[in-house]
Amino acid sequence: MADREARLRHALAAALERYDDRVGEVFPHEVELKINPSDAFLAVVRPSETGIVIEATMEVVARIEEAWTATLNLSNAMPSDSQIALLGDHDHVVDIALRWLMQHELNHVAVGHFKLSAGAGIVEGGGLTQFALANQKHRPASPLDQLNATDRKMTPLCLELQADHDATEIVLGAYFNENHELFRYYAICIALVIFVIERIDRQQGNQEITHPRASTRLFMLLAYLVELPYIPAYKQAAQEGLEHMPEEYLPDETEVQQYSKAVVGPVFAACEIIAEAVELPNILEELGGTEAFFADIQKAVLGGHSNIEKFETECAKQWAALKPLNDRLLRMLGW
Ligand SMILES: [Zn+2]
Repeated sequence: MADREARLRHALAAALERYDDRVGEVFPHEVELKINPSDAFLAVVRPSETGIVIEATMEVVARIEEAWTATLNLSNAMPSDSQIALLGDHDHVVDIALRWLMQHELNHVAVGHFKLSAGAGIVEGGGLTQFALANQKHRPASPLDQLNATDRKMTPLCLELQADHDATEIVLGAYFNENHELFRYYAICIALVIFVIERIDRQQGNQEITHPRASTRLFMLLAYLVELPYIPAYKQAAQEGLEHMPEEYLPDETEVQQYSKAVVGPVFAACEIIAEAVELPNILEELGGTEAFFADIQKAVLGGHSNIEKFETECAKQWAALKPLNDRLLRMLGW
């Protein structure tokens, strides 16, 4: 037990350090990690008098450990060229997965989600309503009051996708040609958490939609990976105020192909193995098969489309349905 608690504490310390490094400033709140003694899966972030509290149960660690053991067993039984390619100590995957989860919690706060939840906590998985805004009789005013009922209901899904995105950006770090293996490794650790949360959600059998589907979260993760080699060029062009991207800013075509072969393809293949390990094969159906999935990513990321009609897969459709609302929420928060 102490070992699992140490894992959580270490993950939070590492996430805070990574946040400081990547964002270039110290995380602006004091963070307390509270170990909840319940044997259920629970991870929640909420404001406190002195800063924020991340509350988690040992079951969070246990479930990620379990999912990883099952995944590794399946992978090891496969021909060597189909196995998940890892780096170093295989057990380290669980620690990176926990760091991403902690980073996700920190980023709910950093992006300002408590302003929207009117100070209520934000819960990961477990079929619970993320924040009790709709049910509070005497709740404080929230910017969400200006949204219609449907948008208010969909807001928690957007918050999850935004925290995922920001956490992934921080965990992966900037694109470097030398870091291909590291990107693959980190992305697999992130996918593992997404599968575990979905598993918990489905197990609790709550019909109410409070979280985005795992397939949508995976779509966003893979879309980010596809986009990653181009981000330095986007940033440079934006900094220089250019309207058109100069050809020489873009990464070399051969390098992008190498990257795709070393990172994007293997991460998708690892997702197929994790889906089987955690017994959620229908997530793969929602992803729509390799071809349709990557065609939708091309449309979303490189084609700049957000029209739902243009997408084939369920995951891309949910992403496209939430995007305008998420953009609006970000504007409400002053981004
Ligand atoms: Zn969250």
